[in-house]
Amino acid sequence: MAMKDQLTHCNNRHSLAEFAPKFIADALKFSSPLSMLILDLDHFKEINDQHGHTTGDEVLSKIGALLMKLSNQGDCFVARIGGEEFAIMLPHCNAAVALKKAEDIRALIEDLQPVGLVVTASIGIASLSEHHQGDYGLLYTEADQAVYRSKQNGRNRVSHYDEGDNLITNNTVFNTL
Ligand code: GH3
Ligand code: MG
Ligand code: MG
Repeated sequence: MAMKDQLTHCNNRHSLAEFAPKFIADALKFSSPLSMLILDLDHFKEINDQHGHTTGDEVLSKIGALLMKLSNQGDCFVARIGGEEFAIMLPHCNAAVALKKAEDIRALIEDLQPVGLVVTASIGIASLSEHHQGDYGLLYTEADQAVYRSKQNGRNRVSHYDEGDNLITNNTVFNTL
């Protein structure tokens, strides 16, 4: 019970913090890909402001139910990590597969229209690679940065963290494009 979010019935962030390192350990042990998605609903404050907090809660609950349905259908772990933010761990998914899954999720949310409202999400992806050295915090930070890019580029879209960003901060001239 303490591992579940009451409103959405998704796993909560404590649960994510417990399980994410296990997903990483398994991925490294079996040399299997792993990606992480962070999903932030767009302009959610406006939904609360225009339709009330109870309607906002209903939207969150319906989005949570959609994500948990996907989680039950496939091999992934869904958590609500903040007010209108969710994280999804995708074991066995490299960047290309994660991009496709994220785009499917983005479209499903746009089509859902919970309580008759169009709700969209900005999604960021990071995929485990050697430079993470197994560090979950770094993977999370990268997925979060990719969400920020989706927001900056107009919301309702998917972005993958660009490893070039990381290499540039290490003073390496490396153009990934
Ligand atoms: P952006 O597209 O930049 O993400 O804009 P936003 O409005 O979604 O982001 P912002 O962080 O400004 O607002 C998030 C809002 O989510 C503000 C807060 O009141 C609302 N919120 C957080 N938790 C809950 C909740 O449990 N229920 C409801 N109804 N609203 C919540
Ligand atoms: Mg947010
Ligand atoms: Mg938001």
